[in-house]
Amino acid sequence: MKFCSGCKTKKDRSEYYAHYCSKDGLHSQCKSCMKKNWAKYAKTNKSRIQNIVSKYQARNITKVRASTRTWQMAHPEAMRAIAATRRARKLRATPAWASKEVVAEYKRLSYIAKEIEEIAGIKCQIDHIYPLKGHNSCGLHVAHNLQLLTEFQNKAKSNKDPEIIGVTVDKIYRADNGRIEFIRAICQKEEW
Ligand SMILES: [Zn+2]
Repeated sequence: MKFCSGCKTKKDRSEYYAHYCSKDGLHSQCKSCMKKNWAKYAKTNKSRIQNIVSKYQARNITKVRASTRTWQMAHPEAMRAIAATRRARKLRATPAWASKEVVAEYKRLSYIAKEIEEIAGIKCQIDHIYPLKGHNSCGLHVAHNLQLLTEFQNKAKSNKDPEIIGVTVDKIYRADNGRIEFIRAICQKEEW
């Protein structure tokens, strides 16, 4: 038996997680206390945890992709629901006048993305600057709300507002008149 410093009760040793450097090899609080602590921490540190998760995902992209794929295959109905929600949101977020412009901008950005991937070997993705479903805002599906991010940037940004990303690939591409060497040099930085 061991006394838990959290709930102040005596519990069996099996009720404690192992601790590699404590005297008795166990944590001072029981499993259920630690779970409660963790839940509380997760609730008050959402963005911090999301950040760590995003970084992990970006670094382990193949692994994450494989497990995502497995989950998707196992949940086809959930996938259909997600796709339908996204379609509906896009429809609602696209003003009637904007459709043609959006298509043109997609074409333009896809062209740049293709070129960057071919020459610099860096995958890029078209992203909504202000997410269609953001934390603090709701972006429109219009041409001037589109940008090109590297896969890494897009992962790190997720559904967050644009302040998190500095300069984007398409802006560099434009500013430097399409000099891919410059993009390649910049993309070698880890955060790209
Ligand atoms: Zn306890």
